[in-house]
Amino acid sequence: MALRTLESLGSLGGRRVLLRCDLNVPLKDGAITDDGRVRASLGTINTLVNAGARVIVVSHLGRPDGAPDAKYSLAPVAQRLSELLGAPVAFAEDTVGEAAASAVEKLTDGSVLVLENLRFNPEETSKDEAERRSFAEKLAAFADAFVSDGFGVVHRKQASVYELASLLPSAAGSLIASELEVLDRLTESPERPYAVVLGGSKVSDKLGVIEHLLPRVDTLLIGGGMVFTFLAAQGHSVGKSLLEADQLDTVRGYLDDAEKRGVRIVLPTDIVVAEKFGADAEHVVQPADAIEDSPFGASGLGLDIGPETGRAFAAEIRDAKTVFWNGPMGVFELEAFAEGTRAVAQALTEVDGLSVVGGGDSAAAVRALGFADDAFGHISTGGGASLEFLEGKRLPGLEVLGWQR
Ligand code: ADP
Ligand code: MG
Repeated sequence: MALRTLESLGSLGGRRVLLRCDLNVPLKDGAITDDGRVRASLGTINTLVNAGARVIVVSHLGRPDGAPDAKYSLAPVAQRLSELLGAPVAFAEDTVGEAAASAVEKLTDGSVLVLENLRFNPEETSKDEAERRSFAEKLAAFADAFVSDGFGVVHRKQASVYELASLLPSAAGSLIASELEVLDRLTESPERPYAVVLGGSKVSDKLGVIEHLLPRVDTLLIGGGMVFTFLAAQGHSVGKSLLEADQLDTVRGYLDDAEKRGVRIVLPTDIVVAEKFGADAEHVVQPADAIEDSPFGASGLGLDIGPETGRAFAAEIRDAKTVFWNGPMGVFELEAFAEGTRAVAQALTEVDGLSVVGGGDSAAAVRALGFADDAFGHISTGGGASLEFLEGKRLPGLEVLGWQR
């Protein structure tokens, strides 16, 4: 079955439309450090505004503990949205309370309102379906139709993603539609060679992807925090680097499976090892199989792939026709450990074929390193969501919009 698109909702003029976006932007000291997700939401918002709808935007931001927390307020995001739209955007200081209700009441045709962080309400992410449903009903009471456009959360069974969609006439926005189009190209007959680059810090989350990618790809390049579980699986000591000790057997299994399938898993040959975690930490380049031979011994910390690995990965990437990359190669937030991520990003811009960057931090990384969005084939707004798509998992937030694999 196909995804229900905006057109399926009919004329939206004068109607109240609840729009689920993913405005989960990175913040530092209250300021937005990367507004990519706000920009990515503009397409659907503008479509709704131009249609004369009364637009009520909802989103989560960060991981507050189910209670209001000023640190995670969407107020600065509403402000940024207003700047990008070049129009006023109203903001309600709660999500389903009196402030929200009265702000919805005041909406006029073609105007935009942002409600406070969905996750200030514990029901949004509750494991209890009845709780989620009751929260979704409160949201639904504000609107005549629901548009789901937060691609970054479609893999989550959460009130505003899943339950809400069955309480109102609902459809996917244009961001979700375009994300799906690209991901479809990665799963259905990608042009070969097909290389996938994995990094980042959510090691146990991402190890599972490997199993599903092995039958589909030609080359798997491993960087970031998960490298150390691979190196340890090969019998090397990794100092104080990230390590998932309970995954060693699983990883050995992947290495065997890859060999049988003729898929190349390419691991770093050198690693930037630091004395401690910090911008001014002393660091050296070490062979990947001799991390503990650094001056820092067993307390050394692998924080980036080394320059030799960066060059090798770049060459693999440039030779591919299809490349998907998720997860920074190192702690790119600190300049001393950003080189590996920079090398991989640069190579992706040189791919003669389809290059896709997926993941919140990966997207933020390429922008922080000065690459333009259009230097890549596609920058996905969803890390977990795009990985689960590639894994062939069920995505509740898409299925509830009519989509089926
Ligand atoms: P994404 O959001 O793109 O899916 P993740 O959230 O998995 O990526 O990981 C991003 C984080 O991974 C970054 O903050 C980066 O600092 C961290 N990271 C990358 N390499 C390492 C490493 N070797 N050790 C610790 N953290 C790392
Ligand atoms: Mg992340």
